[in-house]
Amino acid sequence: MKVFILTLGCKVNQAESASLERRVLAMGNELVSTAEEADEIIVNTCAVTAEAARKSRQALRRVSASGKKVYAAGCYPKIDRDAVDELGVEIIDIADGVGAKPVKRTRALLKVQDGCENYCSYCVIPYARGESKSLPLAECVSAIRGFAAQGVKETIITGVEISSWGYDLQEPVTLADLILALSEAAPDMRLTLGSLEPRVVTDKFCETIAGEITGKFHLSLQSGCDSVLKRMNRRYDTARFKESVTLLRKYFMECFISADVIVGFPGETEEEFEQTYEFLRELRLDKLHVFPYSPRPGTPAAEMNGQLEKAVKALRAARLREI
Ligand code: SF4
Repeated sequence: MKVFILTLGCKVNQAESASLERRVLAMGNELVSTAEEADEIIVNTCAVTAEAARKSRQALRRVSASGKKVYAAGCYPKIDRDAVDELGVEIIDIADGVGAKPVKRTRALLKVQDGCENYCSYCVIPYARGESKSLPLAECVSAIRGFAAQGVKETIITGVEISSWGYDLQEPVTLADLILALSEAAPDMRLTLGSLEPRVVTDKFCETIAGEITGKFHLSLQSGCDSVLKRMNRRYDTARFKESVTLLRKYFMECFISADVIVGFPGETEEEFEQTYEFLRELRLDKLHVFPYSPRPGTPAAEMNGQLEKAVKALRAARLREI
């Protein structure tokens, strides 16, 4: 059987697709690189923004039109099951905890965590993926040993919310313990962390992981204005975020910090936006990923007053991208 896997969305989806590739091959199937060549098609979807959901729906519709057997995996079927059912597409769950080495690459994604319980007011992920689940330490270590044996040189430690890794496990372990264990199990492997919440970046965390991991970090900021962060139900303020950046720069000589920012959150005034602009201008991060806010049905933010015009959001996004 020839199988084509189309992956949309984040590194978690990439890790899950990589793991799926391995299982598809182990079952004696062949992986092909286009939908035209395939007998069966699996679309690993994303629903993190309205735009991502639209693209997932579009991809499913496109491949379904071929008349081939199509499966939908990932977040989109979990939040819009009716639309997927209408297309006659079968829904499958491919989240199995750990990412495998992507075929023919020297960089691997190790998915150590799934789900999220933070309930940021704009985000649909907690409804789509459920509560936080960590891959046990021993399984993470065994996976990285496997990567090293296959010649992988760099592993990205990924998950939906890796900062929560370990909280649900019986053994008292934290993300810093995980990094130390992985580094010890595969000493020649370059380890890079996926997106981090500012709350985990403490003096102790940095002191523990410095030297064990690359200095490439992605911090989740979302707004540089405290009142907007509060409405977003984020659990830090700008002072805490700044402290995280200062600590990472102190402990990692070659430090590269990127961040996500949402502009045009419901009720964001000109003054609030200017606070974000000034905060980011002063902080001088290495890269910004700027997203105009898009309401996700079923989230508290979608029901908030003060939804902004598309043009206002586009203008604010353009200004931040100039920084
Ligand atoms: S931390 Fe917030 S934005 Fe990130 S997945 Fe969880 S709820 Fe969504």
